[in-house]
Amino acid sequence: MKFDPYRILGISPGADIEEIRRAFREKARRFHPDRGGQKELFLALKRSYEILQARHAPARLEIFKGRPQGDHYVLSFLDVTAREVAVGAAVTVVIPDKPVPCPHCGGSGQNPAGPKRRCLFCEGEGVIEFSGPERRLCIVCPRCGGKGEILVDICPKCRGKGELAGEKELELSLPLGARPGDILYLPPGAGGEVAVFFELQVHPSGCLNFEGERLVSRVLIPFWRFALREKVTVETLEGPEDLDLPADFQPGQSLVLSRRGPWRADGSREDLYVKIDVFFPSDFSPKARNKLKELAEFLEKEEKDASTG
Ligand SMILES: [Zn+2]
Ligand SMILES: [Zn+2]
Repeated sequence: MKFDPYRILGISPGADIEEIRRAFREKARRFHPDRGGQKELFLALKRSYEILQARHAPARLEIFKGRPQGDHYVLSFLDVTAREVAVGAAVTVVIPDKPVPCPHCGGSGQNPAGPKRRCLFCEGEGVIEFSGPERRLCIVCPRCGGKGEILVDICPKCRGKGELAGEKELELSLPLGARPGDILYLPPGAGGEVAVFFELQVHPSGCLNFEGERLVSRVLIPFWRFALREKVTVETLEGPEDLDLPADFQPGQSLVLSRRGPWRADGSREDLYVKIDVFFPSDFSPKARNKLKELAEFLEKEEKDASTG
C-alpha cells in the first residue's frame, strides 16, 4: 500500500496546517514508544507530519534592500527571537485585510450609547402619514428608521465610518540570513492585498543573541570555575551543551563553534560565538574569605619560590 500521510494521521487531504499539527500532537502523545506505543507506528506518524509540514510550508518573507517605494504599502514591526531568526522559523504575522463592519455601532457609524434627539422628520412619531383624497398612507420614517429619535454622536470606535480596518494572521517563514533591523518584505498577493514591510526587531532567546552580524551565546561563570577551567554549559541552537575551556583561555576571549550558528540561504551555516564572562562575587562569608586568603597566600608564596628558586 502507498504511504499515505493523511490516512496515517487520520485527516482529510484538505486539512490545513493547524489540523495537521493537532492530529500529529494527539496521535504522537497516544502512540509514543515511552508510553508503550509501537515504534514503527510512531515513526510513520513522525514521517507523515514532516511530509505534510513541508507540503504546507508557509511562504518565506524576503529581505528587502533599500527603502519602500510608492505609497501602496504598509510598514509594520515584527518581534522575533534570535533563535527564530537563526533557524528561519515560521512566525505569525498580522497584516491588513478588508474592512469589517464596526461591531460597536453595527455599521451605522453612530454611537449607540450616546445621546439621542427627537427626529424632526417624523416629529418623534416614527411614521409619516400622507393624507390622500381617498385614504391615508403611513410609511416608516426614512430618517430615523421608525425609532422616532436619532443618535447624535458618531461612533467612537470607528469614528463614524461604520467599519474598522480588518486584519488577519498569516504564518510565514523568516528568511535565512536576516539580521536585526533588516526590512522584510511580503509582496502584494502573497496573503495580503498590498505589500507589507516589516522591520525586524530581535530579542534575545535565553543566552543567545545577535551582536552585530554574529550570533553569540553568553555564559556567566564564577571566577573559581574559570580558574579551574571546568566544563561550562552553553546554550546552542541545538540545546544546552557542555564545553571544555582550553587551558590558555582568558576572560574576554570567545570560543568559536564552527558552522553551528545561523543557517544561510544556501543551507550552509555560520559560526556560533561563545563569550564567557567571569563573575566576581562582591561579598563572601567569613569562612570563605579566610579560605580564599589562605589560597592567595599559598599561591603568592608558590610564585615567589618559583621566581627566586
Ligand atoms: Zn462604529
Ligand atoms: Zn423619524
